[in-house]
Amino acid sequence: MSNGPYGKITCDCGALSLLVCGSPLAIGRDVGGKPVAFWPLEAILIGQGADELDVSPEGRGGETWACRRCEDRLLYADDEAGVAVLAGHPEDISDPEPALTSSVQRRLESLSYRVVSEQ
Ligand SMILES: [Zn+2]
Repeated sequence: MSNGPYGKITCDCGALSLLVCGSPLAIGRDVGGKPVAFWPLEAILIGQGADELDVSPEGRGGETWACRRCEDRLLYADDEAGVAVLAGHPEDISDPEPALTSSVQRRLESLSYRVVSEQ
């Protein structure tokens, strides 16, 4: 995944890009301690390469969005929580206000994500 400013994420081969709108609900860490950001699922739009988008169910109950060509995984989408989990912390966004409901936070924590309120 590219490290560009939030707004657009592109897979390794460039065939698939997603547009990220609005602001994150919260930031956190994944099970391996890597930074992640939680976005509303409806904030994610397909920029280009809709034909290359491979949405596959994950054991945890949500779906992984990946590129069919390079198999780069762009995000994890959890329908139950209505949240998309993207790798990395947004840089250009000042202090995302935690906007997760406690039920969504519990759902994310049950998936082994840690939600943090400060970077
Ligand atoms: Zn690709």
